[in-house]
Amino acid sequence: MNNENLRIIPLGGLGEVGKNMMLYEYKDQILVVDCGIMFPENDMLGIDYIIPDFQYLVERRDKVKGIIITHGHEDHTGAIAHLMEEVNAPIYATNLTRGLLEVKLSRNGMLNRANLMTVQAGHTVNIGAFKVEFFHVCHSIPDAVGLGITTPAGLVVHTGDYKFDHTPVDNWPTDYAKLAEFSARGVLALLSDSTNADKPGWTPSERVIDPAFDQVFSNAKGRIIIASFASLISRMQQVANAAERHGRKLAFVGSSMTENLKMARKLGYINVPESVIVPIDQALKMKPEEVVLMGTGTQGEPTSIMGRLSTGTNRHFDLIPGDTIVLSSHPIPGNEESVNRTINRLFRRGANVIYEPIAPVHVSGHASQEEMKLMLHLVKPKYLIPVHGELRHLYQHKQIAQGIGIPAENVAVVENGQVVEFRSGSMKISERVPGGYVFVDGSGVGDVAPSTMREREALAREGFFLVSLLIDKKTGKLREEPEILTRGFVQKDFSDQLITAACRKITETVANSNGSLQEDLEQMLKTFLFNETRRRPTVLVTLNKT
Ligand SMILES: [Zn+2]
Ligand SMILES: [Zn+2]
Repeated sequence: MNNENLRIIPLGGLGEVGKNMMLYEYKDQILVVDCGIMFPENDMLGIDYIIPDFQYLVERRDKVKGIIITHGHEDHTGAIAHLMEEVNAPIYATNLTRGLLEVKLSRNGMLNRANLMTVQAGHTVNIGAFKVEFFHVCHSIPDAVGLGITTPAGLVVHTGDYKFDHTPVDNWPTDYAKLAEFSARGVLALLSDSTNADKPGWTPSERVIDPAFDQVFSNAKGRIIIASFASLISRMQQVANAAERHGRKLAFVGSSMTENLKMARKLGYINVPESVIVPIDQALKMKPEEVVLMGTGTQGEPTSIMGRLSTGTNRHFDLIPGDTIVLSSHPIPGNEESVNRTINRLFRRGANVIYEPIAPVHVSGHASQEEMKLMLHLVKPKYLIPVHGELRHLYQHKQIAQGIGIPAENVAVVENGQVVEFRSGSMKISERVPGGYVFVDGSGVGDVAPSTMREREALAREGFFLVSLLIDKKTGKLREEPEILTRGFVQKDFSDQLITAACRKITETVANSNGSLQEDLEQMLKTFLFNETRRRPTVLVTLNKT
């Protein structure tokens, strides 16, 4: 294979929303852009998150000259610690992005191993054969950048996540002039954000959230609890401003939010008077109408603050009647069901919940169709590779490009792992490299193979068989009839019969066991249940001795 040409290799974010990761390869040099995670879909049981498949990089780890992180969102930064286990190269990021990376890496104990370099919008950095010009873009986090990458094959513009907001929270709009300057030089290819390619018009400015918050704050009689992402720094600023305007004190809940706030304040990306912020313990003692709490959990994650509040399992504090909850974010595709379930539970527990279709308490950080057209007009690329989005978004982006005169054959709609090559000014689709999912759960990376996922699905399908026993400490005999609960594996009329038989078996086993009673019971029940039902439910036995 001839390696003289520029190869663009998507490892994540193409054909899905999340785990963005792009490689630029020229000869023996590779530049990595972003390294994010993706949240699991509903049918991926027990998976915490998904990272890109690094195999292509692992086989070429000496070629990696640098890693650029365009901004601080999880879908661009989340897998960085995993990548650092495999690849050792300097990481380039703007000030705030670097701060967020530092918080993340120090939590993983990886900070001293990281070679972090601070860059700024307007800077040019040579990374191997690549000359990278960083330019500012508006997004839902400050200090986001896009990249102009001059390669020996030509100039490539990589937008990162962006929108064209004329009134952003930090008053720093996207760098239109730089984009126009690139087009004057001639742009070989544009890699552009497709997240909102199916949204007509123009994404509203972040500013529209302020009046929506004012409305919520004026109407709320009790506490206001706002959920957002820990990395939505500009949203924290907007909440703090609203709290100040309405004479409430603001407390942050949870370590990720508190740490990010501390870092963003230190670096000057959040400007909140000391008097507005109070520690959570103090806030909980104040009158409900005087406080705002802000935490994570907009995606219905059961372990987040919002998830725990919705199920009444938050240890620190509980919902109280009159609480107003604001979900200031949009469900990530795939999470809608669990988000809606959480909203329902919060209502059931007496809270008033305000979420996006009810009030504009969130706006997207991504360009809509008209902004995508503007990007294409400003940059005037010869070729377009739509990035960041499910296949439908990438195809929509292609339609938009065709609509303004870019020939269909100059747009490459490709998915993860599909190599695109540029040589002598023209584009061709090349071979495929591994670009699949790597699952991460509590026990580790890649331990969960697709076969394990199937086992988990089966587990969910087969149901549970729970036995609770009260045993006399002295005699070792049952003090009561076994208590048995089954879920999801036998029909009601059959279950009475089955349970009676199981009770008999359990009593026998208790009388005869001379090893570990727990193990004996579980083993016996597994065999018994399989013989009776041809199914393998999960068996759980609890022994209470008195
Ligand atoms: Zn983003
Ligand atoms: Zn993103």
